[in-house]
Amino acid sequence: EKVHISTPSKDYPVFIEKEAIGQLESFLKDSNREVSKILIITDYNVGDLYLSKLENSLSSFDVTHYVVPNGEEAKTFEIYYSCLSYALEQKLDRKSYILALGGGAVGDLAGFVAATYMRGIPFIQIPTTILAHDSAVGGKVAINHPLGKNMIGAFYQPEAVFFDLNFLKSLPLVEKRSGFAEVIKHGLIQDFSFYEWLNKNITSLETLTDEQISFFLKTGINIKGAIVKEDEKENGIRRFLNFGHTLGHAIEAEAGYGKISHGEAVMIGMVYALQLSKAVTNLSFNMDHFKGWLSELGYQITVPSYLDPKKLLARMKQDKKSIKQKVTFVLLEEIGQPMIKELCDELILEELEHLYTYSG
Ligand code: NAD
Ligand code: ZN
Repeated sequence: EKVHISTPSKDYPVFIEKEAIGQLESFLKDSNREVSKILIITDYNVGDLYLSKLENSLSSFDVTHYVVPNGEEAKTFEIYYSCLSYALEQKLDRKSYILALGGGAVGDLAGFVAATYMRGIPFIQIPTTILAHDSAVGGKVAINHPLGKNMIGAFYQPEAVFFDLNFLKSLPLVEKRSGFAEVIKHGLIQDFSFYEWLNKNITSLETLTDEQISFFLKTGINIKGAIVKEDEKENGIRRFLNFGHTLGHAIEAEAGYGKISHGEAVMIGMVYALQLSKAVTNLSFNMDHFKGWLSELGYQITVPSYLDPKKLLARMKQDKKSIKQKVTFVLLEEIGQPMIKELCDELILEELEHLYTYSG
C-alpha cells in the first residue's frame, strides 16, 4: 500500500505494509539519488528491537547509527547538539541521509537535525508507533525548550515514509491508545464515514488486526496529507489538526510531560471540544455513545482531579496557537466540518467543570 503526499515544498511516498523496509534499499538506490552515507537515529527501546534488522536491510550502504533516550527525553537541546556532533564526526555531507527509526519523538528530533545540518540534508521517516502516522507526515519537526514544547523547529518534509506494520507488534497498549486518539481525530475533523467505520469496527486496541491497522493508518495519513497539501505552513486549515489539542496540551503540561500520554490527553481534549461544539454550534452528536466507546477502548475521559481548571485555562492561554491571551478552539459544526472559534473564559471554565466527573 502506498499513499502519496504532495506539498508545495516536496512530494513523497508513504509505504504502509508489513516488511515495508524491504523496499527501502531499492528506494535509495534509485538512479536519481546519490547516497554518500546513512545515519540512523533511534531510541534505546526501538534500537534494541529493530536497529539490527534495519541495518541488515541496508547492507549495500555505508551506515552508522546514533541512539538517543526514549520518548520526550530525546527532544532536548543537549541531545540535538550531540546528534549534530556525531554527524560532523562521522563526516556526513549533503548527500548523506538521516533515517528516523522510532516514534514521534525520534522523528521530530531526527527531522530537526536533518533540517539544520548543513542547512538541510535528506531524511526518511520510519515510524514505529501509531501516533507517528500523524507526526511522520506533514513536515513539522522540532525539539523542546524548557519554557515550551516544540518551540524550536522547522517545516521540513521527508523524502519518504516507510511504515512497517511488523514494527508495531511490540507497541505497548498505552502507546496504542495514545496513537489511536489521533486516528479518531482525523475521522472527526474530516471524514464522518471513516469515523463511523472506526466506531463500528474497532472495539478493542488489544486485538487489532494488520488489515485494520493498515486501513486506519492509510486513511488517517490521506486525511492529514490532504490538509497539509492545502496549507503546509499552518496559516489556515492546518489548524484544524489541533482539534482536541488546546486542552490536551494544557493537560500534558500541567500534569508534567510523560504522566499522561499525548493522545490520551488529546482524547480528553476532544471530548471537551465536542462538548464546547454542542454549546456553541448546532453539532448533533451522541456524546453518551461516544464516551461509552472510548471507555470500552480504555480511555480515561475525565480530567484528573489533581489538575486545577484555572491553571488549565492559564496554560491554554500560553499555547503558541493562542493570540493575545484569547483562547482559540477548533470546534465542529458537524462531524467532518471543523471551524475555528475564540471563546470567552466563562464558557471555557463552565464546560471544563463538566469534565471532572464521568457521565455517560
Ligand atoms: P515516542 O516517540 O515518545 O514513543 C513512545 C514510547 O514508545 C517510547 O518510549 C518509545 O521508545 C516506545 N516505542 C516506540 N515504538 C515502539 C515499538 N514499535 N515497540 C515498542 N516500543 C516502542 O512517542 P509518540 O507517541 O510516537 O510521539 C510523541 C511525539 O510526537 C511528541 O514529542 C509529540 O510532540 C510529537 N508529535 C509531533 C507531531 C508532528 O507533526 N511533528 C504530531 C504529533 C506528535
Ligand atoms: Zn497530536
